[in-house]
Amino acid sequence: MKYCRFSIENRVCYGAVEDRNGEPWIVSLIDAPEEDLACRLSSAPAPAGFQPMPLSAARLLPPVTPSKIVCVGRNYRDHARELGNEVPAEPLLFFKPPSSLLPPGGIVRMPPASARVDFEGELALVIGRRATRLSADDDWRSYVRGCTIANDVTARDLQKKDGQWTRAKGFDTFCPVGPLVSDEVDPASGLIVETRVNGELRQHGSTLDFLFSIPALLTYITSAITLEVGDLLLTGTPAGVGPLAAGDRVEVSITGLGVLGNTVEHQSR
Ligand code: ZN
Repeated sequence: MKYCRFSIENRVCYGAVEDRNGEPWIVSLIDAPEEDLACRLSSAPAPAGFQPMPLSAARLLPPVTPSKIVCVGRNYRDHARELGNEVPAEPLLFFKPPSSLLPPGGIVRMPPASARVDFEGELALVIGRRATRLSADDDWRSYVRGCTIANDVTARDLQKKDGQWTRAKGFDTFCPVGPLVSDEVDPASGLIVETRVNGELRQHGSTLDFLFSIPALLTYITSAITLEVGDLLLTGTPAGVGPLAAGDRVEVSITGLGVLGNTVEHQSR
């Protein structure tokens, strides 16, 4: 099952996505998941007589409405080393605020406070079942609804300057996500994560190269933090991170999940 979230006739909708001749199409409307209360409680009428449309023609929204976005730093050996960091002995966690979410096609706004804003292409997991203190014996797959693509946009200079990462990782527009959520891909089988800037390949990694596996991450995270339905987990970025400039187009692609494309501009004020 693949689904997206989009707006049509000023109403937020969810759509089932299927491939037609190699291109993803929204084929039907589906109920909003339980965490999207705003959509479920909306009094706006559902559009009647929905006609299937290509995903590329839809006004896409982030396909997630998380209560929190939990992120893992340095989960690929080569990326830890490229920034001069030790390979961590335990997962390194941080948050991005839900206010940083940006839809596919949205504009990443580089804030005046930063002189270096980097891309970080990442596999993201959507939690499908409330998870507290999981153990290694638990079936992690039963807690994950599906996978999507995220770009963990980072003000690299502020990450160093601030001593912690809240601002550097948390600016508005710094978490592009989408275009869809899928349970038809298996991260444990090796998904290829690639990032291109203006068409040039900049990152290429495989989820087989995670330092900490998904069950190890979920066990570690939920020993401290309950993951709610709809929460988003960013699993870290492979080597090759680098700066973005105004006018750039950045695209993150992952096997079976399509392409998350965004443009970059200066924040106007
Ligand atoms: Zn990251």
